Amino acid sequence: MTASANSAPSALSAPVDAFKSLVPSARMPVLFLGHGSPMNAIEDNSYRRSWQSLGTEFGAKYPRPQLILCVSAHWLTRGWWLTAMPKPKTIHDFGGFPQTLFDQQYPAPGAPLAAREISHLFKTPAVGLDPHEWGFDHGSWSVIKPMFPLADIPLVQLSIDYDRPPAEHFVIGQQLKLLRDRGVLIVGSGNTVHNLRALRRSTPTMQAYDWAIEFDKFAADHISQGNLAGLVGFQKLGSVAQMAHPTYDHFLPLLYSAGAVDAQESARFFNADYQMGSIAMRSVVWG
Ligand code: ZN
Repeated sequence: MTASANSAPSALSAPVDAFKSLVPSARMPVLFLGHGSPMNAIEDNSYRRSWQSLGTEFGAKYPRPQLILCVSAHWLTRGWWLTAMPKPKTIHDFGGFPQTLFDQQYPAPGAPLAAREISHLFKTPAVGLDPHEWGFDHGSWSVIKPMFPLADIPLVQLSIDYDRPPAEHFVIGQQLKLLRDRGVLIVGSGNTVHNLRALRRSTPTMQAYDWAIEFDKFAADHISQGNLAGLVGFQKLGSVAQMAHPTYDHFLPLLYSAGAVDAQESARFFNADYQMGSIAMRSVVWG
């Protein structure tokens, strides 16, 4: 061994591991799941069956996740927060549904240590830890319970600072990317089109509005072409974007998922149809 090799700083050959609770893994895929009606969590329909089927790919085609990190359309905050309680509660954040839906529980553990480690990824903006307030809202448990019904994989939620511009949500997603090599399954849960005021209740599926089809095509084309950063420009569609997302809380989770993906990664679509004409259920698996 040469003198110069002997004198190499030990810190360079033994980098500090910031993720003590997450071991290196094969790269995990990234999901964006259109969740639609909360009833999809319990109805035996094509959406729930697709989530059940997707869940069986983990531990087979893909590694079993060490941790699931979900960005749900239903947790909007000032600033960004990670759930950091050991036993998150199941939140029933809806009204007017059958008691069976309110009876649903998803007792997956939280991951306070991993949440703290992940929060250190973010310098600007900072991401805080929520040890008490939130839990699992239906944007996360309605899709993740069918995928992983045993509730034995730790789950954390990352909130959405709704007041921040679209590009910042994409940047947060980019900073999540390295977690994919630590066994973390990143799940965005929203809808590519989501307008509750325009629901066509007499037509459960299909017969979507023209603006819904146009906006969903915008999302699908950008994803197919690997132009993921281009998704942040969705407001360029003007009135079509306003109809597709009168508020855009259900679109923003897509930006987190897309940010965590490299442009050349393959994308697989499923559930590319509509609930009640104005909710696009299009879902994506990358990687
Ligand atoms: Zn929703």
